[in-house]
Amino acid sequence: MAVQSLEGLLTQGKLKGRRVFVRADLNVPLRDGKPSDISRILASLPTLRRLLGAGARVILSSHLGRPKGQRKAELSLRPVAAELARQLGTAVAFSDDCLGESTEAAAAELEDGQILLLENLRFYAGETGNDRDFARGLAALAEVYVNDAFGTAHRAHASTVGMVPFVAEAAAGLLMQKELDKLQIALEPERPFLCLLGGAKVSDKLGVLEALAPRADVLAVGGAMAYTFLAAQGVAIGSSLVEPDRIEDARRVIAYAKQADCRLLLPSDHVVAREPGEGSASRVVSEIPDGWMGLDIGPDTAARYAEEARRARTLLWNGPMGMFEVEAFAAGTRTVAQGVAQSEGSSIVGGGDSLAAINQLGLADMIDHLSTGGGASLEYVQGIELPGVAVLER
Ligand code: AMP
Repeated sequence: MAVQSLEGLLTQGKLKGRRVFVRADLNVPLRDGKPSDISRILASLPTLRRLLGAGARVILSSHLGRPKGQRKAELSLRPVAAELARQLGTAVAFSDDCLGESTEAAAAELEDGQILLLENLRFYAGETGNDRDFARGLAALAEVYVNDAFGTAHRAHASTVGMVPFVAEAAAGLLMQKELDKLQIALEPERPFLCLLGGAKVSDKLGVLEALAPRADVLAVGGAMAYTFLAAQGVAIGSSLVEPDRIEDARRVIAYAKQADCRLLLPSDHVVAREPGEGSASRVVSEIPDGWMGLDIGPDTAARYAEEARRARTLLWNGPMGMFEVEAFAAGTRTVAQGVAQSEGSSIVGGGDSLAAINQLGLADMIDHLSTGGGASLEYVQGIELPGVAVLER
């Protein structure tokens, strides 16, 4: 079923003069009281511009960090209001609460084409607890609801799910819509379909591995999680990171892949060191000696994975191929990033480190879709229904 779109509401004339509650993802890192990375603010602009241009009265909300139901000054969204105002070229009013009398008054004062940013939703435990009264309080601020926070769509919170039944109209914002359209490609892939997974833990990606092993043509695993797979095959991994309680799960994924004729690729060479830190001597090996740990895929593996990426018609990449933050162990992730950028098919990249690698190399323009929702996109491509999306389907 399709979600209600923002464009749909626009053509029905349902936005001009209306108070529109926008749930965005403005969860930006703050340093010295200022956003130190504004990509999420930038990503939210198209929806905001569209709404303001249509004469809507925008009530904007987000979470920031994990205040766990407590008011924490260092997690206030106020600095985001200043940056938003700069980006939009218009005043952004700020309410130092997200509901209640003062917030309702500020919302009621808005004129057509004006915007009000609310304080951090997670200052109330009712947000993540999806409390009914809290949800009703948020809904009381507006007539129309727009969700543009794809990154939290896999969580049933008050602002992503709970408040929706209490508003007259609900739709997906432009960013949310774009994520859904692009990620759909991974559900109906052109072949060969390559899934490249890396990062620290098998446990985090077990669901994706299990769901994609039967659907992908090639599953290439890198990062620390590859060592649990190698251990499952009885390969010596020295002192590399391993999750002993996941070895059985890894064996199951290997068996699924085999049954489904999916080629499961694991590293055949490694950049190893005795210690994970900067400055420790490293070398490339095909067999990891005792006392050494694999911290990056080796050059042969990286070349193999990059070649698979170039040949894929559909490609999904999430997670670094090694300890990418340390220069000595970043080459594998970079080589793979180059291959992904050169892919002729549709490429979807998600996860902080993979996105950082793409950005560092200036390759962002060559990727079809840079997904903003790490966990949400991984759930979506598994075919799991996201509560924040399901609630917009009506
Ligand atoms: P994740 O959050 O699961 O995407 O994992 C990202 C983290 O995994 C990064 O901080 C990497 O440094 C780390 N990582 C990736 N490969 C390795 C490895 N071979 N050994 C240790 N840590 C790794």
